[in-house]
Amino acid sequence: MSGTASRQQAIDQVTQYVTPPASFIDSETLGDLFGKNVFSRSVMQARLPKAVFKSVLATIDKSVPLDPAVADIVASAMKDWAIEKGATHYAHVFYPLTGLTAEKHDSFLEPDSFGSAISEFAGKTLVQGEPDASSFPNGGLRETFEARGYTGWDVTSPAYILENPNGNTLCIPTVFVSWTGEALDKKTPLLRAQQVLNIQARRVLELFGHTDIDTVSSFAGAEQEYFLIDKRFFFARPDLLASGRTLFGAKPPKGQEFDDHYFGAIPERVLAFMHDCERELWKLGIPAKTRHNEVAPGQFELAPVFEKANLATDHQQLLMVTLGRVAAKYGMECLLHEKPFAGVNGSGKHVNFSLGNSTQGNLLDPGNTPHDNAQFLVFCAAIIRSVSLYGGLLRSVVASAANDHRLGANEAPPAIISIFLGEQLMDVFDQIAKGGATASKEKGTLIVGVDTIPALPSDPGDRNRTSPFAFTGNRFEFRAPGSSQSIAGPMVAINTIMAESLDFIATELESLITSGTEFNVAVQKVLEGIITEHGTAVFNGDGYAEAWQTEAASRGLKNLRTTPDALPQMDTQEVKDLFEKYGVLNNRELHSRYEVYLEQYCLSVNVEALSTLEVARTVILPAAVRYQGELAATAASLKAIDYAFDTSTLDEVSTQISAMQDSLKVLESALSAHGGDTSLEEAQYACDALLPAMLMVRGAADALEAVVADDLWPLPTYQEMLFIL
Ligand code: ADP
Ligand code: MG
Repeated sequence: MSGTASRQQAIDQVTQYVTPPASFIDSETLGDLFGKNVFSRSVMQARLPKAVFKSVLATIDKSVPLDPAVADIVASAMKDWAIEKGATHYAHVFYPLTGLTAEKHDSFLEPDSFGSAISEFAGKTLVQGEPDASSFPNGGLRETFEARGYTGWDVTSPAYILENPNGNTLCIPTVFVSWTGEALDKKTPLLRAQQVLNIQARRVLELFGHTDIDTVSSFAGAEQEYFLIDKRFFFARPDLLASGRTLFGAKPPKGQEFDDHYFGAIPERVLAFMHDCERELWKLGIPAKTRHNEVAPGQFELAPVFEKANLATDHQQLLMVTLGRVAAKYGMECLLHEKPFAGVNGSGKHVNFSLGNSTQGNLLDPGNTPHDNAQFLVFCAAIIRSVSLYGGLLRSVVASAANDHRLGANEAPPAIISIFLGEQLMDVFDQIAKGGATASKEKGTLIVGVDTIPALPSDPGDRNRTSPFAFTGNRFEFRAPGSSQSIAGPMVAINTIMAESLDFIATELESLITSGTEFNVAVQKVLEGIITEHGTAVFNGDGYAEAWQTEAASRGLKNLRTTPDALPQMDTQEVKDLFEKYGVLNNRELHSRYEVYLEQYCLSVNVEALSTLEVARTVILPAAVRYQGELAATAASLKAIDYAFDTSTLDEVSTQISAMQDSLKVLESALSAHGGDTSLEEAQYACDALLPAMLMVRGAADALEAVVADDLWPLPTYQEMLFIL
């Protein structure tokens, strides 16, 4: 519903909103809550025979293949636990290429021959499902004659209970593959990529003399940004409803210029939502940790503590769903779109990345003296080399219609993929390039100048908020992923390119050592080679500066501004070879993703274009014409009594109405034209023909919003959506 009446009604209702009383028992402590609904290690320890428990742990921690004999026992314990928790159904949860979460529910019910029912859940039901699910995009991987799709239990991500006032469901994270075993989802390649990272990282660690090496994993901590707006405004905006972003909206007199929202006091209603949301997340074992206001009005952030990449990815998906669910309880809509409002900051999802294990710790921790921490430098060099060689791939895995509005818009990193090392590390690598590192710039002390405040240690390098891939002390932060995206894609790419670089380094070191080179000399040689060849990808300056664009071009770095520019990077021979070589995605699997993502781009832009057309014609134009009529009537009656009438407003309204009608014609004919014969051509067409036509319509609409009488304006304004909560 939209229109002047609903806008006014929304404002009235929103301003009278009262936060509902807490719906949970206050006495539950964090300890009671955390993991309450998870089939966790401690639940398994309590409920499984010792040998079975050990066998499951060996699979989770050491990647030992799952013993099929344990599945029945685990399934039975899981069912009993779930039923005690009120579950009547179970669901295999999987992650199709849409980037969303999919679940198919079945009840535990099994009618018996006596006409009553028993609850059944066998090992084979836990291990495998066949959801069919043939409507998910597969980019040609599933022809109708081979349409079967299977889900398979991922033991490494714990099952959990999803609560609902009317009954609970046992959810089991799974992979989703075709009947030939090809990956139809985002989890399968991630698990494969984790596996190869482990193999290559261990090779390097062995060269450093480590014999007792635990499985190496990558870790991810994803900072989720989001907007909250009142549901009533959301429903009064058909553009938001259809496409997730506002396709219209004049810049408000006060936007985010004052930076007064950033880290400001959190409004009561939002804080109530956050408390509730965090409790829900804790129950699911998701370690929600940090919350604060973000830069734009109405924008917030939630960051969990990092976890193993696969678990963090599943948790991220669950976190996005939970944000939406809980927001609805407080009458709000949680907008995960990368750019819901033009002119104010968009939302990202910085993915913090590290790798390590229980025996070696965090392999990206430089210690106090990185120059003599050769092992750290080797892992760091692997990242530099990876980003330099596969910057195009990294750009392609964050490409989407929505994220195109964010990257390179001076609020998010530019579309140029470079790496930031910070002063201390840069200095070490500069020394390496000149023959060897002998010193590290030290940590300093911050003197605040207030006697009661103790001296604070200062970090040896500053942060850089304009770099897409930044070293932040003991991890790298990939800042380009968008707020609505699954972090699986980025994690698959990072793990695989890291595996390739570690493979390269291990091979180089091995051959140098075999030919008699002393180990330390060999390490210096390899590091020197990498920084000399790949230093061009390192950039410690301001990524927002105009000059960087020119500089990056002269260094040969790509600046891929749009999705149709970026996605082909996923389809290049070297990327195909990379994924094939490490068994992460075969050529067919990779190509299917390229096709699906192009298709999604075209779909998103098309929906936006259609929505632009509809809202402009049926909502905005009628309001403008009404106002034009009022002005014309006034002019006519004033003229009748020989009274002067200043026609400038009427002229402006009429001009913009014509402009809007003209641009609507352009948009309409662009929509009906043939976009191209391949997905890429179609995507390019959407980018070059549809988006500019939409912008023209919007230009006229936003100009009208600035002149049409407020009581006739049908859509909630930016001011209302962003500032009334
Ligand atoms: P900032 O906004 O300053 O970058 P936040 O506290 O918002 O930092 O988020 C930092 C994120 O980085 C959190 O999710 C945190 O768990 C994660 N993180 C911290 N250390 C590591 C690490 N070693 N590996 C991966 N992620 C990490
Ligand atoms: Mg943050």
